[in-house]
Amino acid sequence: MTALDAAWAERWVRTAAAEVTAHRDELTELDRLIGDGDHGVNMDRGFSAVVARLDDPEAPPRETVGQVLHLVAATLMSTVGGASGPLYGTAFLRASKVTDRAGLDAAGVVSLMEAAAEGIVTRGHAGPGDKTMVDAWQPAVEAAQRAEADGDPAQVLRAAATAASDGARATIPWVATKGRASYLGERSAGTEDPGARSTAILLAAAAAAAGPAS
Ligand code: ADP
Ligand code: MG
Repeated sequence: MTALDAAWAERWVRTAAAEVTAHRDELTELDRLIGDGDHGVNMDRGFSAVVARLDDPEAPPRETVGQVLHLVAATLMSTVGGASGPLYGTAFLRASKVTDRAGLDAAGVVSLMEAAAEGIVTRGHAGPGDKTMVDAWQPAVEAAQRAEADGDPAQVLRAAATAASDGARATIPWVATKGRASYLGERSAGTEDPGARSTAILLAAAAAAAGPAS
């Protein structure tokens, strides 16, 4: 099975940036319904800045997955703002610390996912069912752990991405108990959590960057 290298990480981030731009209005509309209507704009600003850093000829070369993810973390923290900037920044920072090597096997991808999810929970103190991005990350980690035995890092990502998307959709009927949406109480029911949706978009990009299923 092909290990995932720094070139994969860069493809992931560039694909994520394009997908975030494509879904910017959708994310903003979800956040308009149960938040303050800036999530798509926040994410698009952050990932556009990440791509600009990757394209900067002065930027140092990236030899490991961790170096790419560290660049993402630092850029998101300084550009995204809102609740999601520090949350995604911490996720990518934690993930960068467990991926500072040339290639990731299936276990390496599981470690990346676990570290990212732990970072979000440590930073935001949300648990499953609070209707936040944790409700996409948590099932994604569990699916990644189940898929690890298969030994294919791309398959681990595909399993995680599918679970994140299902997890995000499952938040629709829920009442939010963390984050800005919780201020709405019962009126937060009926809308997908924007951060869970953006998590699903980011993980779908990670799987797509690893190549099609064989
Ligand atoms: P803000 O809420 O500050 O406007 P964004 O709109 O960019 O920030 O992001 C909102 C998303 O952040 C929510 O949809 C939710 O998924 C996520 N979020 C908010 N608070 C938390 C938290 N404590 N833990 C995990 N995720 C959270
Ligand atoms: Mg918002």
